[in-house]
Amino acid sequence: MRIIRRVADMARWSENERRQGRRIAFVPTMGFLHDGHLSLVRDAKKRGDRVVVSIFVNPTQFAAGEDFAGYPRDFSRDSGLLEAENVDVLFHPAPEEMYPEACQTRVDVETLGKPLCGMLRPGHFQGVATVVTKLFNAVRPHVAIFGEKDYQQLQLIRRLVRDLMYDIEIVGHPIVRESDGVAMSSRNAYLTAKERRAAACLSRSLRKAQALVRRGEVSARTIIDTVGADLRSEPLATVEYVKVADLETLEDLEQISGAALLAIAVRIGKARLIDNQVLAR
Ligand code: AMP
Repeated sequence: MRIIRRVADMARWSENERRQGRRIAFVPTMGFLHDGHLSLVRDAKKRGDRVVVSIFVNPTQFAAGEDFAGYPRDFSRDSGLLEAENVDVLFHPAPEEMYPEACQTRVDVETLGKPLCGMLRPGHFQGVATVVTKLFNAVRPHVAIFGEKDYQQLQLIRRLVRDLMYDIEIVGHPIVRESDGVAMSSRNAYLTAKERRAAACLSRSLRKAQALVRRGEVSARTIIDTVGADLRSEPLATVEYVKVADLETLEDLEQISGAALLAIAVRIGKARLIDNQVLAR
């Protein structure tokens, strides 16, 4: 596995592979890898002749007071895990490499970045859209894989690729969960053992909502109230939002006709946890 730290070297490697007719699959991450990330990497192996994984904790997607400095990092462990997956390139640029001399250009996906997490994390999705654009320009992939765990991010990237006319296939990968249902996340490392047990309330409440919809519930209000009450019954949890939204526009829905997104964000201890479920009848 090659470790590349410079944008110019990354682009040169990719151009060389492209000239030889190879398909490049890309998995962007912020590192501190878990089995969810590795599942995306295995998906990438099936979709490309070469696999590039990036590890970059992107400063511009963290607001002041968020966990940028404390975000968990373990580069040597991560590179060992990726090597074992036979990844071809680990792209690991320094912040100065990605954002040289006070960059002036930002990428803003106008409406998809506003609801859900965008309401509570102003500027977050502009940071995400900007860094993903830059990573695409450095890595030049044919296909890129993103987790449905960050559903809003996935939809925003799909829009960005259409709007900016990138010739990149975007693949959504299902949420990978621990045995008790908790969605895998680097931020689970912030939880104490007791908080980690409490975190099961997120996926439990989503499963219950899906069961209600299967039994014929169509009112978003009823789903939101039920999920909200379930989450609030966990003393260690503080609810940030519970929303039922359109799968593509992410706008609030009142009725569930066909399929809808149920998205939740909850604080437990030092961690802000998100999870979601596509509700289908
Ligand atoms: P992150 O390092 O948290 O920025 O995540 C990198 C990529 O892995 C993103 O596309 C995430 O959506 C995806 N991802 C993270 N956790 C999971 C999970 N539990 N299941 C599926 N995808 C995930």
